Amino acid sequence: MAKKQFKAESKRLLDLMINSIYTHKEIFLRELISNASDAIDKLYYRSLTEGNTGLSREDFSITIEPNKDDRTLKIIDNGMGMTKDELEKNLGTIAKSGSLDFKQETEGKDDIDIIGQFGVGFYSAFMVSEKVTVVSKAFGEETAYQWESSGADGYTIKECEKESNGTVITLELKADTDDEKYSEYLDTYKIKNLISRYSDYIRYPIQMMVEKQKLKEGSEDEYETYSEMETLNSMVPLWKKNKSELKDEDYNNFYKEKFYDFTDPAKVIHTNVEGVTSYNALLFIPSQTPYNYYTKDFEKGLQLYSSGVLIMDKCADLLPDYFSFVRGLVDSQDLSLNISREMLQHDRQLKAIASRLEKKIKNELLTMLNTDRDKYVEFFKNFGLQLKYGIYDQFGAHKEVLQDLVMFHSSKEKALVTLPEYVSRMKPEQKYIYYACGETTEKIDKLPQTELLKDKDYEILYLTEDIDEFALQMLRAFDEKEFKSVSSDDLEIEESKEEKEAAEKQAEESKDMLSYMKECLGDKVTEVRLTQRLKSHPVCLTAKGGLSIDMEKVLNSMPV
Ligand code: ADP
Ligand code: MG
Repeated sequence: MAKKQFKAESKRLLDLMINSIYTHKEIFLRELISNASDAIDKLYYRSLTEGNTGLSREDFSITIEPNKDDRTLKIIDNGMGMTKDELEKNLGTIAKSGSLDFKQETEGKDDIDIIGQFGVGFYSAFMVSEKVTVVSKAFGEETAYQWESSGADGYTIKECEKESNGTVITLELKADTDDEKYSEYLDTYKIKNLISRYSDYIRYPIQMMVEKQKLKEGSEDEYETYSEMETLNSMVPLWKKNKSELKDEDYNNFYKEKFYDFTDPAKVIHTNVEGVTSYNALLFIPSQTPYNYYTKDFEKGLQLYSSGVLIMDKCADLLPDYFSFVRGLVDSQDLSLNISREMLQHDRQLKAIASRLEKKIKNELLTMLNTDRDKYVEFFKNFGLQLKYGIYDQFGAHKEVLQDLVMFHSSKEKALVTLPEYVSRMKPEQKYIYYACGETTEKIDKLPQTELLKDKDYEILYLTEDIDEFALQMLRAFDEKEFKSVSSDDLEIEESKEEKEAAEKQAEESKDMLSYMKECLGDKVTEVRLTQRLKSHPVCLTAKGGLSIDMEKVLNSMPV
């Protein structure tokens, strides 16, 4: 039989995939088990919606079958299975995810928690296998098919025998080398270990025949071996477990698998709340900005479960926009399973949960700021912009929540500082929180307008983002100290009597020159006058009224 070729780009991709996407070969098992679980979910979903499958939840399981004699490992499920077409489509095209298609079709419906969506997980099997064989029978079909491949050189599909629906994946493990002992994956101990590490919360039992020993009947010291089917996963979702049972690694693995990130989260928030509304929440702050975060494609939201059953994949109402970077899930027994999206929006319980989560997230961020500043600064570089938009958004309705969390570059510290920190360092006679705007902190540092303030040893906040000044204007003041731009007309710095008199005298003497200059400049300026704020520069521009020159620039550049 002629071998079919993988689609051209697939060949290269496959190579790349096998050798670079995954750092740990062992995750192949996690991927195949996730696929099995997805396939069962699909069938279970159908049994719920169509009700004519004659199946119930207890009928489903995943079985692992190692065979040391012929060096094979089988992963067996009794899920949806694949037709010939689907085998071709899903396994013959890399990055083709049948699960993603399915997920899109069933968006937001009922008891369904599809893990796959990248369409590359299956190929991880080739990291450890010489050859992979997939025997599958789609639910409700008569014929079963066998897909077989030894990697990049293509695959074959042929008819075969299989009694019931589902899929059997057989891996012929690669020969051991000095560096890699592939036969390890046939050890009961190793398999148990991998499953509890990566697949513990899979909601269907993952079973394996395990050899055990018991006393021989009638004997007191003679043992005999027997085999017994053992369930290897606890099936309890991670978030329902006790915090004390869980290690960082458990959370990190869970996060990476569930939210498709390659890096550990910067922060994990796990909370169990008992009360009028009880819920478990497991939240993560990513350590990197998602590639589409600051675009309109980004969709915020937390997964919403009702007693362990997923009811919505991205529940936006659980997160305010300014914390939209948070990923994770909420599970509450107090929410009804068949609640609709529209009803959810008005749900009192949900509102209560959202407002508690908001407080929790804020507190966790403050704790991070106070106990692990480097980490917070890193976080702020990723998501600080969003917090500043949050202050400006909705006419400042949320500024109370956010004002302690935002940071700006400081002229003194040469680093990001918070507003409370700035205020705590203010000079006794200093009335305002001063700020200067510009493209970069280096450029701002050279502004003539900053000279007098620096001379007075006042700290200045250097604002480099367009949103910064708008956010400060929205705050108006922090700790009753108003903000003042260095380019504003009057810096309102206290002067001594002598200084004042000297300045007035000088102004009087220069009157003619100043009015001549104003005459020359005409409408370009409102006024030309002497200032005490410059030290080494001859002249600078200032703005009258609330808007700084830079803010006017931003406003002028906006489309009308
Ligand atoms: P993903 O799981 O991200 O969609 P995979 O490469 O892991 O991508 O799998 C590709 C597709 O193959 C899946 O989306 C699914 O449609 C199909 N598939 C894989 N394993 C099974 C299985 N055990 N039973 C049924 N379909 C499967
Ligand atoms: Mg998968």
